[in-house]
Amino acid sequence: MPRLPVDRVLGEIRERDLVDLTASLVRIPSVFRPGEPDANERAVARFVEDWLRREGFTVEVQEVAPGRPNVIGWLDGEGPGHTLCLEGHTDVVTEGDPAAWRHPPWSGVVEDGRLYGRGSADMKGGLAAAMVAARAVRRSGARFSGRLMIAALVDEEDGMSGAKHLVTTPLGRAISAAIICEPEQNELCLEQKGVFWTRVMLHGRMAHGAMPYAAVNPITAAGQFLARVPELERRVRRGVRRSRFLGLPYITPTIARAPVGHVAQNNVIPAAAELRLDVRLTPGLEPDAAIGAIEDLARETERRCPGTRVTVEILEAPRPATRVERDEPVVKALEWAVRRAGGRPPVFGGVPGSTDGTILRTALGIPIVTFGPGNRIIPHQVDEHVPVPELLEAARCYGLAALQYLSRHD
Ligand SMILES: [Zn+2]
Repeated sequence: MPRLPVDRVLGEIRERDLVDLTASLVRIPSVFRPGEPDANERAVARFVEDWLRREGFTVEVQEVAPGRPNVIGWLDGEGPGHTLCLEGHTDVVTEGDPAAWRHPPWSGVVEDGRLYGRGSADMKGGLAAAMVAARAVRRSGARFSGRLMIAALVDEEDGMSGAKHLVTTPLGRAISAAIICEPEQNELCLEQKGVFWTRVMLHGRMAHGAMPYAAVNPITAAGQFLARVPELERRVRRGVRRSRFLGLPYITPTIARAPVGHVAQNNVIPAAAELRLDVRLTPGLEPDAAIGAIEDLARETERRCPGTRVTVEILEAPRPATRVERDEPVVKALEWAVRRAGGRPPVFGGVPGSTDGTILRTALGIPIVTFGPGNRIIPHQVDEHVPVPELLEAARCYGLAALQYLSRHD
């Protein structure tokens, strides 16, 4: 490997700049509130765009939906090569009751080495660290090939439309690997859980409560179905290796409702019952396999409860679990960076939910690693904060990982 200008890159990453940039991003509220034209990611996206242009990045703004722009900035190296994307999202979740916060949610105040505010960890801190790291690579004058990209995307907290849009564009399709800068307390996460939600409808025949022989009772059928969910869960787990970080898949009933769509009465057997299942996937269990098993249970319930019709509806596109191998170049680059910049051995982990990385991994087939500053539990809570030392370590690791990854000549 060529000698890398490690010290020059690290020397361009200063805590003060990084804290200021993070605080500036936090101070621009970017909760998406439908119906309020200015309550979205636009203002913070504009800030990121201006910053990137000022720092010499080439920038493309992709209007994903009105007022909701993806901002992509990049630096091109000396020749063709791989494209490394440092990925973040600009939207944040609601602040809830501002009075419940120790510091106002849009303050970006630093106290005792922690920067507070909604989005400080999830994930304006990670985004700021990525921006400062990429700038450091540029300022260091380091030679590299390929492209170093910053992607600041919209709508991660809801439908992930920003990531879904990016993967359809030429810029997105050229990405070779990505580091997802979500708060994972600077652990290298090679796995992410997947999820889907399903509505199971049990249709029977309505009748008088005094004459159950005239009815097909969907509640009895729902009971039969529910009683077999633990067996269903065991069945889908068969052959799935327990993940060290994510455990095993879960199938959990979260809603049971009957009647559906009309008033509940003591003496009326309703026409239908509704169940919802929350299905959490781990690597090794494909959504289709779990859906197939749920369908099988639906058919079995129909056989056990003659006259009942059971339908299974998947409520939105399943997000599969993702895994990448430890010998992927992007993983090795980050592992090396943690040793060099963090002065410690890497810690491996898993992401309990899905991220924009799920979309990049599944749509593009590229390796992704999730690695970013902030406690894994803190997002979406009051008093969200990011520890400044972790923020700084993340930026240093991103800078060196980019340097290492883009100086490959294979
Ligand atoms: Zn996030």
